[in-house]
Amino acid sequence: MTGRFARERVRHELVRREVRVLRTELVAPGMRRVTLSSDELTGFASPGPADHVKLAFPDGSGGAGAIVTRDYTPLAFRAGADGADPELDVDFYLHGDEAGGAAGSGGPAARWAASAAPGDAITVMGPRGSALPPADIDELILVADESALPSAVRWLGALETIAPAAPVLGLFSVDDPATADYLRAFEAEGRELRWFSGEDRDERVGAALREARIDAGTFCFLAGEASALVPLRRFLRRELGLPKEQVDVHGYWKRGISGHDHHAPVDPSDAD
Ligand SMILES: Cc1cc2nc3c(=O)[nH]c(=O)nc-3n(C[C@H](O)[C@H](O)[C@H](O)COP(=O)(O)OP(=O)(O)OC[C@H]3O[C@@H](n4cnc5c(N)ncnc54)[C@H](O)[C@@H]3O)c2cc1C
Repeated sequence: MTGRFARERVRHELVRREVRVLRTELVAPGMRRVTLSSDELTGFASPGPADHVKLAFPDGSGGAGAIVTRDYTPLAFRAGADGADPELDVDFYLHGDEAGGAAGSGGPAARWAASAAPGDAITVMGPRGSALPPADIDELILVADESALPSAVRWLGALETIAPAAPVLGLFSVDDPATADYLRAFEAEGRELRWFSGEDRDERVGAALREARIDAGTFCFLAGEASALVPLRRFLRRELGLPKEQVDVHGYWKRGISGHDHHAPVDPSDAD
């Protein structure tokens, strides 16, 4: 490993776990926490802040046994105490469909989460690999939409161990301004958590990023709608010339695409 923000990668044995919904809770507008539980979660490990699991859902097309898989962030894992089964929290954004349909109407995963009830079965696969956080961060910049708020929480948690006093700039693009409730518990001195809503919110996030103080010790994590991230990534990598280890960008979904493959380069003109 070389470079200031080089990260250790850990491979995990790929495990498939059959789990059940234990409880659900609306933790912010459109954000539903689903707590999964099973003795099959014993040994679950997710040491990387941007880890993901694959969840398998009924595809809703009516085909018997047809399933689709989608990627989600393992938000919090609790090993079972006193013989209780371990628990895993996953926060789902209940996005609507492209035509502005109701919350949770937008895809098999969002639909499943909108109606998930205790006892419902689901399959959890992975995580298959984890990128551990860098050992040293002077300042953290987080850019996220609703889908990446859980990974933003994981980054804030990782920072507690690496550099608890490090300043944080969070730029969050959300449909409903009240989604800011999601990170209320993480507000602290030295952390500037800014929320952007409305039609031009992605442009305003871009403008705020351009105004940010970014130096050699600033680590940037950006995740959300893939197309919206292209100009931000170009600014950081091409205009500022930041090395790729300093700028971690992930397209978590893509407008108009069902089951977007997050391994595709965020910027089609630059696969680096
Ligand atoms: C590594 C990783 C971690 C992720 N973690 C989380 C997480 O913790 N919580 C979470 O909510 N999501 C997370 N996502 C995003 C989630 O996987 C996608 O939003 C996924 O497309 C949802 O599947 P679906 O079946 O509901 O919709 P799909 O069938 O994939 O898409 C149906 C339609 O909805 C649109 N759409 C998809 N997602 C959104 C969205 N977020 N907002 C608005 N429209 C959308 C699509 O463009 C498409 O038109 C993560 C993605 C990745 C790659």
